[in-house]
Amino acid sequence: MERKQTLTLTPGAEYRGGITIKSPTELIAMREAGRVVAATIQVLVSSLEPGMKTKKLDAIASREIRRLGAAPAFKGYRGFPATICVSLNQEIVHGIPGERIIREGDIVSIDVGAVVDGFYADAAVTAPMGKVSPEGERLIETTRQSLEMGIRQAVVGNRVGDISVAVQRFAEGRGYGVVREYVGHGVGRALHEEPSIPNFGEPGKGPLLRPGMVIAIEPMLNVGGWQTRVLEDEWTVVTADGTLSAHFEHTIAITEEGPQVLTSLNGS
Ligand code: MG
Repeated sequence: MERKQTLTLTPGAEYRGGITIKSPTELIAMREAGRVVAATIQVLVSSLEPGMKTKKLDAIASREIRRLGAAPAFKGYRGFPATICVSLNQEIVHGIPGERIIREGDIVSIDVGAVVDGFYADAAVTAPMGKVSPEGERLIETTRQSLEMGIRQAVVGNRVGDISVAVQRFAEGRGYGVVREYVGHGVGRALHEEPSIPNFGEPGKGPLLRPGMVIAIEPMLNVGGWQTRVLEDEWTVVTADGTLSAHFEHTIAITEEGPQVLTSLNGS
């Protein structure tokens, strides 16, 4: 069942329309949206300082996205009240920026979306605030690598399940819980399009990957179990067992030349 308030799709969510194939011209706009997202994330990560409120990051993101000629994708989406999501420590996704203070040793997940010429891009990183615990460091690095494992499978002729299982095997092989209640998704003229891209699955199953498809792959890994719950603000998703969680995401175009990461500054 789809949660009413969500920015990250739940498995089995219903979509309008099918899987869309982007033309080369459309991919240019999507790449531009991706560049805005990547540049904004870079500015946000380099702005992190102990003692800052999470709403400061939101203000920086809002200014940066608009300065780069784009519009924020999340603000107002299903009622989300802010430009970006900032999720600390045991928070997985959808943290609402506000008065909370970022402290030395926190792990800070930042999720950014932008729209250019009607096309969306979506990416997330988890950054360490200064020196974090070895447990936090290892979690961040493994989550980042699990996204890479998924991206490697984002090739023409593979199926969505090949991406899913690559992420799952890598993460579970290192002892992490892989969040199941929120998944990646197609991206295009809507923030969330078909198909959904779970971070768990079976090889050779699911929709076929074809040139011109654009997808967001977004592993969410927990130090403990995969179970989640939503806080009273009806947005913030946390680990059910209170363990740390990390989140990395890129928007990726499937091309004959292989996966193109649209939300990286160098496009690799
Ligand atoms: Mg997403």
